[in-house]
Amino acid sequence: MHFTAEHEQFRSTVRQVVEREIDPHIDEWEEAGIFPAHELFPKLAAVGLLGLEYDPEYGGQGADHSYTVIFGEEVGRAGCGGVPMAISVQTDMATPSLHRFGTHELKQRYLAPAIRGEMVAAIAVTEPDAGSDVAGIRTRAVRDGDEWVINGSKLYITNGTQADWLCLLARTSEDETGYRGMSQVVVPTDLPGFSVSRKLDKLGNRSSDTAELSFVDLRVPVANTIGEIGRGFQQQMAQFQNERMIAAYMSIGGMQVAVDRTIEYVKQRHAFGHPLADNQHIQFSLAELVAEIDVARAYNHTCAEAYMRGEDTTRHATIAKLMTGRLNRKVADTCIQLHGGIGYMEETWTARFFRDSRLLSIGGGADEVMLRVLAQLEGIGRS
Ligand SMILES: Cc1cc2nc3c(=O)[nH]c(=O)nc-3n(C[C@H](O)[C@H](O)[C@H](O)COP(=O)(O)OP(=O)(O)OC[C@H]3O[C@@H](n4cnc5c(N)ncnc54)[C@H](O)[C@@H]3O)c2cc1C
Repeated sequence: MHFTAEHEQFRSTVRQVVEREIDPHIDEWEEAGIFPAHELFPKLAAVGLLGLEYDPEYGGQGADHSYTVIFGEEVGRAGCGGVPMAISVQTDMATPSLHRFGTHELKQRYLAPAIRGEMVAAIAVTEPDAGSDVAGIRTRAVRDGDEWVINGSKLYITNGTQADWLCLLARTSEDETGYRGMSQVVVPTDLPGFSVSRKLDKLGNRSSDTAELSFVDLRVPVANTIGEIGRGFQQQMAQFQNERMIAAYMSIGGMQVAVDRTIEYVKQRHAFGHPLADNQHIQFSLAELVAEIDVARAYNHTCAEAYMRGEDTTRHATIAKLMTGRLNRKVADTCIQLHGGIGYMEETWTARFFRDSRLLSIGGGADEVMLRVLAQLEGIGRS
């Protein structure tokens, strides 16, 4: 991928924003189990980070996807997984469908304020009884005149306690089952019938709020439907590709910082009369991670180039998400191991990194779901 001086200038801007607006507050936000999205997002919006590829008519930058790659790599360098995840929900998980398929009115009302950082968005797909198998969702929107009446619940929703609106996937057909008869609907969270059932306590990504949400006879205009009624599953599958790509891009930044910091540590820590770094086993362990991160970054860039050519990136995004998820776990395990006892202490960055790194292989489609998609694409056996 060819990055110009303009790209590098952009990279430096994002890095400065992360170092100024995110990193100094992370300990406090991790402790609180939430970060103030309504304070942070306008600061990111002020430098154009919340709508990089979106239409300038709605406040977007109209940039190409190469800037999203840099954005992901740099935001991923933040000292936690939670805030980058929450930001990417706003930019690449809850809004792509609205930008792609939404009406002008819907975009003016919900996309433009999300790009300005005034409204916080969340993506509401997973349910207590349907995660990997999205076709099994039960939340139902029944049409009553020009309104949907929504009943159901959603689980593990990032930004869930502070979102102003949700990109909700619901069943909108009485007759159809499985992946048929679903629609994506913009649901404002200030409507009667919406409630946050509980804020969830998590192993990692603790600075991001995750919630279970409830919908009881919630009425929303049918005009809030994103795109075509009945095409929600397909639209969400396309939106998942954006989710998987940004997750893969962000993971590179985090892994690179972790390996760099560990290299510095093993150079200065001594055992058996010499620096840890003088052990060939340690040199090879870290050199292998350096190589694997390089390969993963290059694969991400190949994926991004295919996306920029307008190709279907299901295969690329699936592989990128799978391989970076696995590599993240390996990097986190090696970094904590090479720090020894201090690496296990909460005072050292490795502890949080170890916890946060576990999510990529579960959220946004578990590793096994990525393998399932890939096996189907490759025509391996019957699904
Ligand atoms: C911190 C966090 C944030 C999240 N944010 C959001 C969000 O903002 N919005 C949202 O909608 N969802 C969100 N999720 C949900 C996430 O996408 C799901 O947890 C994930 O898709 C897995 O679904 P599940 O938890 O129901 O696991 P299940 O579907 O119950 O699967 C459990 C495990 O079984 C295995 N498995 C599943 N299917 C297969 C198979 N076919 N073959 C072999 N093994 C299989 C996998 O190992 C999987 O991890 C979030 C989750 C977490 C933990």
